[in-house]
Amino acid sequence: MSRNQQLFEQSQTLIPGGVNSPVRAFGSVGGTPVFFKRGLGSRLWDEDGQEYIDYVGSWGPMILGHAQTDVIAAVQATAANSLSFGAPTALELDMAQLITHLVPSMEQVRLVSSGTEATMSAIRLARGFTSRSKILKFEGCYHGHADSLLVKAGSGALTFGQPSSAGVPPELAAHTLTLPYNDVAALEQLFSELGEQIACVILEPVAGNMNLVNPSPAFLNALRTLCTQSGTLLIFDEVMTGFRVALGGAQQLFGIKPDLTTLGKVIGGGLPVGAFGGRADVMAFLAPLGPVYQAGTLSGNPVAVAAGLATLQQLQRPGFHDELAAKTRQLTDGLVQAARDVGVTFSAQSVGGMFGLYFSEHCPNSFAEVMQCDKAAFNRFFHGMLEQGVYLAPSAFEAGFVSIAHSEADIDQTIAAARQVFASLR
Ligand code: PMP
Repeated sequence: MSRNQQLFEQSQTLIPGGVNSPVRAFGSVGGTPVFFKRGLGSRLWDEDGQEYIDYVGSWGPMILGHAQTDVIAAVQATAANSLSFGAPTALELDMAQLITHLVPSMEQVRLVSSGTEATMSAIRLARGFTSRSKILKFEGCYHGHADSLLVKAGSGALTFGQPSSAGVPPELAAHTLTLPYNDVAALEQLFSELGEQIACVILEPVAGNMNLVNPSPAFLNALRTLCTQSGTLLIFDEVMTGFRVALGGAQQLFGIKPDLTTLGKVIGGGLPVGAFGGRADVMAFLAPLGPVYQAGTLSGNPVAVAAGLATLQQLQRPGFHDELAAKTRQLTDGLVQAARDVGVTFSAQSVGGMFGLYFSEHCPNSFAEVMQCDKAAFNRFFHGMLEQGVYLAPSAFEAGFVSIAHSEADIDQTIAAARQVFASLR
């Protein structure tokens, strides 16, 4: 038995499902999850010594690749001065200055320790600020696992929420409205009926938790206009897209100014950091100034913030995001060509350093369209690629990530592997 398998069997006796976060368990694709031991740049090595090209990047944070020298040095130097104070530090001010500079809609910002905390806190703040209870999210968007956000739509224009997890009281889920992504007519109808009861709309401005789905410009514009008209706060959840699709995130890419923004992943460079921020008049509602409570023992942790600052430092190099986007496009273009050459139905697209792969004729525009992709073909593709030493997200419903450390040779090797795997799928 391989060490991976041994570790998984032992882990299952002590850790529910053998993992500390569900999608790691390969539940969607089947098989034994890979236990990693080491990473460097674009490469990973598992407990059996097998090498992989990594397209998960810890689900987004590792935009510079693994064990990047400056990030590790910043972590080591900061750790030597203590791991935590539970009191303010100059590093947190540096981070606040940098975030508000790079994402100008964020006039003020508060640091937390995960994306879940960021979105949960932003929702509470929006409800406190507006004195309204209802929130709107979109089908297929994931915003962390706070109770109010673990709700997805049934199909149809307007659905009062049913919890999508046990343990979420229906009374709470009923405050969460859901609509299909990119459906402007449904959005307009909902706002005409209930707009003035909705505290906030939260969305992934490029959806990356139902594979990758791009927003239409009309959808984003309608959101901004309707929210402004009805006094509803527009929250861009940029936990995934922040600093990845552009230096200023999706809001810079699409030219839309949200009222609040949530961040995570890249701003911690691989250590736990999240953030939420936006309009100063809204942020003034937060404790200790205002009536909305929010706190954290390790919030703004110096070591995590140092890793994030060292990461953000490098993203500011002119041309960084153009280079990252070009690499990612080269990957998706190559995969589409390889599939076409052997007659496999496949499409792919990228936005900055994130990408979507679909076993369907066209790239999907909604959760319903994502669900029509051939999941069995994806699962076979995933395992074929894994055998060839390419580590993709173990689910057909996740976006993929490229880092700046991925080389031309990595991309070529990946496309060559895919060519073989596609051929075996026919
Ligand atoms: N929002 C989005 C858009 C995410 O992609 C994620 C995590 N994948 C979260 C929120 C939750 O972040 P975390 O896992 O750090 O709690």
